Amino acid sequence: MRVEELKSLIRQVPDFPKPGILFYDITTLLKDPVGLRTAIDALARQYRDSPPELVVGIEARGFIFAPAVAYALGAGFVPVRKPNKLPAATERVEYALEYGTDSLEIHRDAVTPGARVLIVDDVLATGGTAQAVAKLVERLGGVVQGIAFVVELTFLGGRRKLQGYPVFSLLEYER
Ligand code: AMP
Repeated sequence: MRVEELKSLIRQVPDFPKPGILFYDITTLLKDPVGLRTAIDALARQYRDSPPELVVGIEARGFIFAPAVAYALGAGFVPVRKPNKLPAATERVEYALEYGTDSLEIHRDAVTPGARVLIVDDVLATGGTAQAVAKLVERLGGVVQGIAFVVELTFLGGRRKLQGYPVFSLLEYER
């Protein structure tokens, strides 16, 4: 299957989770055996020549793709989670949402200084989440080698927030 064909496996759900939002639902891709393999292989291929030591996944849907990419690249997996879920000492980052703020945490000892890190999430929308996670990784001394997404909503301009980081997405949507 060609990467571009993955678009036919992604379901678009209007007005979820609230009116006016068009939600890109990747569960329909995940349940397709060829689609799932094509997506993971294509993500991993991008980093095969210079694999990261760690792949960081963002709760919750980043947890679906990041470990599979890590496995394919022979890298380790590190979870970034919502507050108060990780049991040991954590570093926390707060970031702005449309209304209010949100926070994410990583274990302080999850990234050794100098480690090359790939960040993976399902959808790049405004870029606020990925930018916050990149900051967390850097605070621990990690080097962000790349930030990868399955879906990029280019009309939201998320890449602007991620300037300076190599950003890769499998599928771009212009609307
Ligand atoms: P961002 O605005 O880039 O910080 O996106 C925040 C998170 O919300 C990402 O991790 C995405 O998984 C999710 N997300 C944002 N917009 C959408 C959308 N239209 N469809 C599906 N997921 C979305």
